[in-house]
Amino acid sequence: MTLVADIPMLEASMPSAWRTEPVPPRPDARPSRIHSSESTRALLGLLKLSQTAAREMSSPADDSTFAGVISKGVLRSLLGTLHHRHTSTLKHSRRVALLAFGLANHLGWDGRQLRILEVAGLLHDIGKIGVPDTVLEKPGRLSPEEIELITLHNNVGFDVLQACRVDRQIQEIISQSQQAYCPDLDAAGVQCPGSELHMGARILAVADAYDSLATEQPHRRAKAHQEIMAVLTEGSGTQFDANVVSALARWVQKDGAPLAAAPDDMDPGAPSPVEVREADSVGLMFSYLHTLERLYDGFHLVDTEGKVLIWNRRAERLLGRTAEEMLGQRWSPQLLGYRHLDERPMTAAETPMLRAIETGRTSLLPLMAMHGNGQAVQMELQSMPLFDEQGRLQGVAEFYRDLSRNSGKNSSNFRDLKLAATRDALTNVANRRELENQLAAMMEGFTDRSREPFSVIFVDADHFKRVNDTYGHSVGDQVLIDMARLLTQETYSGEVVGRYGGEEFVIVCPDTNIEQAFRRSERLRSTLRKAVIGGVDRLSITASFGVAQSEPGDTVDSLIRRADKALYQAKDQGRDRTCSLTNADLQNASKPAVRVKEEEVEPFLFESRFTSVVSSDMIACKLGGFVNDQKAKLSTVTTERVVMLIGNGGLLSALNPFSQEIPVEIDLVMNGLSDAIAKRGVPKIHFHVKIRPRRSILDSTAFHTRATQLMNELKKYFSTD
Ligand code: GH3
Ligand code: MG
Ligand code: MG
Repeated sequence: MTLVADIPMLEASMPSAWRTEPVPPRPDARPSRIHSSESTRALLGLLKLSQTAAREMSSPADDSTFAGVISKGVLRSLLGTLHHRHTSTLKHSRRVALLAFGLANHLGWDGRQLRILEVAGLLHDIGKIGVPDTVLEKPGRLSPEEIELITLHNNVGFDVLQACRVDRQIQEIISQSQQAYCPDLDAAGVQCPGSELHMGARILAVADAYDSLATEQPHRRAKAHQEIMAVLTEGSGTQFDANVVSALARWVQKDGAPLAAAPDDMDPGAPSPVEVREADSVGLMFSYLHTLERLYDGFHLVDTEGKVLIWNRRAERLLGRTAEEMLGQRWSPQLLGYRHLDERPMTAAETPMLRAIETGRTSLLPLMAMHGNGQAVQMELQSMPLFDEQGRLQGVAEFYRDLSRNSGKNSSNFRDLKLAATRDALTNVANRRELENQLAAMMEGFTDRSREPFSVIFVDADHFKRVNDTYGHSVGDQVLIDMARLLTQETYSGEVVGRYGGEEFVIVCPDTNIEQAFRRSERLRSTLRKAVIGGVDRLSITASFGVAQSEPGDTVDSLIRRADKALYQAKDQGRDRTCSLTNADLQNASKPAVRVKEEEVEPFLFESRFTSVVSSDMIACKLGGFVNDQKAKLSTVTTERVVMLIGNGGLLSALNPFSQEIPVEIDLVMNGLSDAIAKRGVPKIHFHVKIRPRRSILDSTAFHTRATQLMNELKKYFSTD
């Protein structure tokens, strides 16, 4: 049956290509330029994949494990491409599938549902195929365009799955697994939106998080099983379904840590030349679909019979018609209710579809289409005929641009503008205005007393000026970018990370009380101090944190000020710590209570004590030897105390911050020496040594190593044997 037979009145205007099968060559209607273009090849690739899928899925001969869930050919092709493009993602996907499968199995799942979940695990990162390596592996900050590209990769993945007739549940599981389980869980235990998520999505979310945490990331080391379980447990009930997390714990208790038992054949080896060729064409298809996602508000493809073969997600949204409704339908101007902009009905011959087929060229027309809800959608419709290399028509792709949105402005430009207005240009996290807007919105919700309070965490890098002074501004910038990314990676969905200014960040945590926020903050702090940041290997960055929780009567301003005060306390108390403050704390503090002022802790001080039995006249000899060997300069010498300077503290050493020779001051206090001199005996002398760096240093480990080494040298001179 062809479209023509169904709609006889259109017959006269139908291209011959749709009347016969197989389609005859039409060299006359084919400008040679078109059939070789990458866009055509990409779309033909998608068409072919879709046809393979349709054929295999309807074949009763398919006896593969995944029969009826996904076509074998499609699965092989997609995984092969992932293998070739991002082997590490393929490995991750296999482990996630293994985990999800095992977890569901442990929960008593079987049969088709288990297979569906397994495939969802295998394909959950499939959209990454289209993202260029330069973006996926970029060590620096991502531009708004790159962020958008990554966001769109999901849509592309779904478009491909949809075109490949993959069981719709798989798409659902994958897209829902990216949502937090229950971001709004409140104390009263109001119905949690997470309970509506597909159970497979909840399992996949846990499996995905587990493997990501177990794997080393650019800014985070791999975590051990116990640490991972701690993270998952902390996110139980909000980020993850608590039942799934505890099922995982039980499973592990029974069978041991899941990935420890993962077989070595998780390593897929090198792809074969055939795989590489196929992967290249599937890769091209993904990249091209990205472009389509950026440029158009939807597209569909019809085959040579005029049947809708591909109906993408954005088309579903723009025209309010699902893929289920549309796939297999025969195209006609009535199918989507095409009309001219002046409301006149459109004849078939006037549609871009037929003009494209007749001329062999892309055809464009602004028109009105009918949304599923009966309303008109103004759009620009572009039809592109798809000829194969022999010049045979294989189908037509139609792209839409929504003209009613943004009064026709290029929508991706508009998105960029919006991004720029809410994001900090350097770090790409929310900017101060956006933070304050989000806080104001939350403050409004908070007047409803039944809600949990929310908290803010104020973060300020410690001694950041030294980073700039020592390494230069661009390393300083990179440190800020990395800090922002680290904070973003470590925060839960629903939380907002923003740059408040300079080296200050704020994290807004919805439904989080001050104790929880304090714990969140301490976790962020320890992650930060362990991370390699700024692209400099031995640069260790710490930050101080101030935490406050929304209280009745608060404004955005008063809440931020309280968190900022808490931060100041953290700085006062020696930095690299979290302090929290409530209004009650502030009132108590303003009473004239006797407060013990904590001694300022020196950030880099190495202290050691030892005792030596050495005659008084030997002391000068031994110390003299040490001073000579170390080329030290003496700055203070009394009978009780010697202060010496080692290494060059001037400009040269500042130019070489990596030098092991961190210039130091050694402050040596000797107790018992004057006593010994008076008694002329062989006394026990107690040495108290303090070593400090003589210039600002960034790497406490290097300093510590240097100080320990000097200390050992010094002790050697005074050792009794
Ligand atoms: P503290 O531990 O007390 O916070 O010390 P600090 O040196 O971090 O604090 P201070 O406020 O004295 O210095 C902040 C420095 O941050 C000064 C400024 O040059 C630097 N800074 C602010 N914004 C940027 C930026 O965008 N890039 C770079 N590289 N540096 C910045
Ligand atoms: Mg500051
Ligand atoms: Mg600072």
